[in-house]
Amino acid sequence: MKRQIFALAAIALLNSSGYSASKKYELNDSHFHLTNYIQEGTDIRDFLKIMGNKVGRSTLFGIPLQQQWMHASTGDFAPNYYLQTDAPLYYYSFTDAHIAMTYKSLSKKDQARFDPMITGFNPTDMYAADHIRRVLTTFPGVFSGIGEFSIHKEFVSSKVAGEVATLNNKALDRILDFAGEVGLPAILHCDVNVPFPKTQPRPLHRQDVGRTFCSPSQNHDHLGPCGTGSRGATGGGPGRPGGTGHQQPSFKSCLLRSLLG
Ligand SMILES: [Zn+2]
Repeated sequence: MKRQIFALAAIALLNSSGYSASKKYELNDSHFHLTNYIQEGTDIRDFLKIMGNKVGRSTLFGIPLQQQWMHASTGDFAPNYYLQTDAPLYYYSFTDAHIAMTYKSLSKKDQARFDPMITGFNPTDMYAADHIRRVLTTFPGVFSGIGEFSIHKEFVSSKVAGEVATLNNKALDRILDFAGEVGLPAILHCDVNVPFPKTQPRPLHRQDVGRTFCSPSQNHDHLGPCGTGSRGATGGGPGRPGGTGHQQPSFKSCLLRSLLG
């Protein structure tokens, strides 16, 4: 049986007219984590080599969650993935500073190939929007958007210490309202269903996902799906070249609606 769970990430398709060089590449990447769950990863210069002449422009973000190495759980074994231990995950805001400094270490030419995103916030916290604002003012001209952050994610959500994220959380509204206000595209991961569904007639979170992305009362035009073969999906954000947000509002109606049925 086909697995009835898929990750829905979201990003605005922005006007990337300021990046004519992308024409010679095969695609732009709207979903790339430079770090893993213990905040380690590929050197940015090595990643540029991997992008080569195939990927023109890429988002750049860490992972907002850190896997705790709990000695009581795994002893001297240091887990680097959330399935390797029962210890919890916690929000790790420093990932944004790491991404900013990594980006700033590049030449202007190489910087032009990346769209750094703010992701080190807790989407259940009413103060999350204040973190985003603080990162923007601390690193002016660096960040293009927010994400990828998770709402419902298979085995990850239940491992996060504290309140469980939901699409109906007022804190998420505040985050998305702030992102819309300042022109930050948002990428979020939200499983439409639970792992191994058996009894429910339709995907558990589908209705809430539809309401978040498609409701006319929610003015979240900076949201739309990625991971669906979209190209040229990045650019813009405050102080960044390539776009101003809130563009191509028909994107979600033609693609996301077909996904959600
Ligand atoms: Zn991801």
